[in-house]
Amino acid sequence: MSVMFNGIGVSRGIAIGTAYVLYREQPEVPEYLIDEERIEHEISRFIRARQIALQQLKDIKQKVSGDVPPDITQFIDTSLLMIDDPVLADGTINYIQHKSRNAEWALQVQCERLVKVFDEMDDPYLKTRKDDVIHVVQRIQRCLSTDIDPELPDEDEDPLKGRIIIADDLTPADTLLMQHQKVAAFITEYGGPLSHTAILARNLGIPAIVGVHHAKQMIHAGEVLVVDGQHGMIVAEPDRKTQRHFRRLQKDEKQRRQNLFELKNKPSITDDGHRITLQANIDRPDDIRAMRQYDHTGVGLYRTEMLFMERDENPSEEIQFETYRRALRALKGHPLTIRTADLGADKEMDSTLQHGPLAHNPAMGLRAIRRCLKEPRQFLRQLRAILRTGAYGRVLMMIPMLTCVSELEQTLELLEQAKQQLKQRKVRFNPDIKIGAMIEVPAAALSAQNFAERLDFLSIGTNDLIQYTLALDRIDDEVSYLYKPMHPSVLKLIDITLQAGQQASIPVSMCGEMASDPTYTRLLLGLGLKCFSVQANSLLEIKHIINSSRLDKLAPEVRDLLKHGCTCDIERGLEELNLKYS
Ligand code: PEP
Ligand code: MG
Repeated sequence: MSVMFNGIGVSRGIAIGTAYVLYREQPEVPEYLIDEERIEHEISRFIRARQIALQQLKDIKQKVSGDVPPDITQFIDTSLLMIDDPVLADGTINYIQHKSRNAEWALQVQCERLVKVFDEMDDPYLKTRKDDVIHVVQRIQRCLSTDIDPELPDEDEDPLKGRIIIADDLTPADTLLMQHQKVAAFITEYGGPLSHTAILARNLGIPAIVGVHHAKQMIHAGEVLVVDGQHGMIVAEPDRKTQRHFRRLQKDEKQRRQNLFELKNKPSITDDGHRITLQANIDRPDDIRAMRQYDHTGVGLYRTEMLFMERDENPSEEIQFETYRRALRALKGHPLTIRTADLGADKEMDSTLQHGPLAHNPAMGLRAIRRCLKEPRQFLRQLRAILRTGAYGRVLMMIPMLTCVSELEQTLELLEQAKQQLKQRKVRFNPDIKIGAMIEVPAAALSAQNFAERLDFLSIGTNDLIQYTLALDRIDDEVSYLYKPMHPSVLKLIDITLQAGQQASIPVSMCGEMASDPTYTRLLLGLGLKCFSVQANSLLEIKHIINSSRLDKLAPEVRDLLKHGCTCDIERGLEELNLKYS
């Protein structure tokens, strides 16, 4: 009989496939005594499991080679070294021999010994290596348990291809790795719509549902599932009729997406002749290649944090300059909006590089521009790299999470210093680079006019703006039900920002997730938004809505919607408006 579960749909699309339950946390490790004559057998079990784990990693490495970020290949290389290290194997085999215990338990004891050794090291970098030991041991433990788990696929197959992954949570690296292994969908127990994994899943076009508590207990490995990423719905063991229904929807959706490609490289212009700027968000220069599958356009948000998060030390000016230039070259004349480092809170670097004690409330702590201003040497390095990139094409610079004008003034002073330093070094740079502010704090939205008067553009970061306006932690799924872009206060702040831009005659863009969600496109157009920066795989869908809309019709209807004082009424009104024009 079919069973239905619900979660938070964070990446649209329908997938039908079998469940693959991923045990990332240490599985329950049994301990039992074994007879003398079974010792050799137990050692062979361990050696075989280690061999399988090694082969799995080699296969993954081979499959993902080429176009994945360096941290992922590095992660696989370290795991390969670790799994091959005799210390791990010898200690485990010794324990089996001398204590007559099962392989799982012996491996666990050896793992704890190694973790302890790493823990006692003074070098913070080496300390973090203990995570690699744990990952590798978990992989071998899973292989050890495969001989009692008939659901796990044959090792020779592509084990994750077409499967629906059930996990407690996924890191962005896991998500990328699994995309390369062609998984059909993700279901996680934790995470919210704004977690970076959710954003990544959307970007990769993989249906995903998060916040399905106890999913790993409720869903069994090998069970057939239907995942509807838009509505956050999962059907387990669907009957034939249900499967047919969803396969039809899946086919229609595929066809609809195919048709959208007719809009590739066409202008985005409303039916009543208003040109709308439609750009993409990227995390790395390599994302531009994926973006160009959909559209040749500019980048409205280049999140530079990955450059900091993917390495063990801060990137030099040269590394930053080279990376930004690579992105600029890939854009072939389209503009690149580089956001200065937005580190902290949900985008924390390696914890060993963190300064000061752990904040109680990182989202409101020393993050983004606050952190840059506290670390001027590092910030100057990034400012110089951006200024230098500006000499080679259309580069704009954008500052995240400004709260008051004095932060902007300090930033502009540092920018002047960076220019002086480059002048002294006689290095080429663009002294007239365009500067913009992200409006993502209610205080900044309410005084957007003060920022607009001093800057070349504004960009609304709705992910944070909603977080701060509605007092909900964007990465805490316990409160993700409060995430309501249609809350009247959020809409008011967006409206104030758009009007401030209009009065100062500067463009206002939106680069938060709200801009990528087709549900809100008509509303935003009606409010007067003229620049969208979206996830690459939303480009054509958003363009389709833009090109079939008339601002003269939408503007008055959206103004009427804004008169409602209740989120539900606005949501209902928007649903009707969308139905009317779709
Ligand atoms: C935002 O806050 O809307 C935004 C675009 O920035 P990020 O998601 O990187 O914090
Ligand atoms: Mg933000």
